[in-house]
Amino acid sequence: MVNSFFQQGLPVFQAFKGLSLTGRCILCDAIGQPGLDICQGCEAELPGLGPHCRHCALPLPSLDQTLCGQCQLMPPPFERTVASYLYQYPVAELIGGFKYNRHLSYGKVLTLAGLNRFVSAYNHDLPDIITPIPLHWRRRLKRGFNQSEHIAGYLSKGLGIPLLTLLKRSQFTPPQQQLDAQQRRQNLKGAFEATQVLEGQCVAVVDDVMTTGATATEVTKQLLDAGAGEVHIWVLARTP
Ligand SMILES: [Zn+2]
Ligand SMILES: [Zn+2]
Repeated sequence: MVNSFFQQGLPVFQAFKGLSLTGRCILCDAIGQPGLDICQGCEAELPGLGPHCRHCALPLPSLDQTLCGQCQLMPPPFERTVASYLYQYPVAELIGGFKYNRHLSYGKVLTLAGLNRFVSAYNHDLPDIITPIPLHWRRRLKRGFNQSEHIAGYLSKGLGIPLLTLLKRSQFTPPQQQLDAQQRRQNLKGAFEATQVLEGQCVAVVDDVMTTGATATEVTKQLLDAGAGEVHIWVLARTP
């Protein structure tokens, strides 16, 4: 996917954009916006979420429905999910470039361009704490960074919410991509631990993408056990 993205739309020199400070659009190379390396035209075309499930943010056909079938049958332990974008072109390719090819600017642009969507999802107070989904140290070593930490850092700074490390990955688990929902849940059992006791705070757990919600469910259980009052999941993108 990432390769086809570069073939489709991006000149080769764009591959070096991650390190540049030129303020140019990461998608079309036009002049970006102040503090945001994406032009207004490309930003307007990033796919938003539309009607979605109140709990898990799964896109729904109309606003008449507020919960997806799965959440009606079995509500997840997290209260709600806020996602900036739909996981499709070009968001999916930008997240891939961010995560696997270390184009850190892609993650920064997607997070900052979507900042208002996190704020406008709330009528009342924003969460008390932001915390990233941790990577196991082996995966972190291989990737060189934890993408969720970067996203959480931009969100914390942009919204003025403290960033705390509340979770630890205690087990190395195989990649989730090839697994179905049940296998994902099984794969993650016991994979996370809370690192401190909480006192009823509302915690926003940050990840790059939500697919089945298996990771979100597992970390939420740990945080609620540790004393969190409520857990919200914040992701850049939700898969359809
Ligand atoms: Zn552009
Ligand atoms: Zn749902």
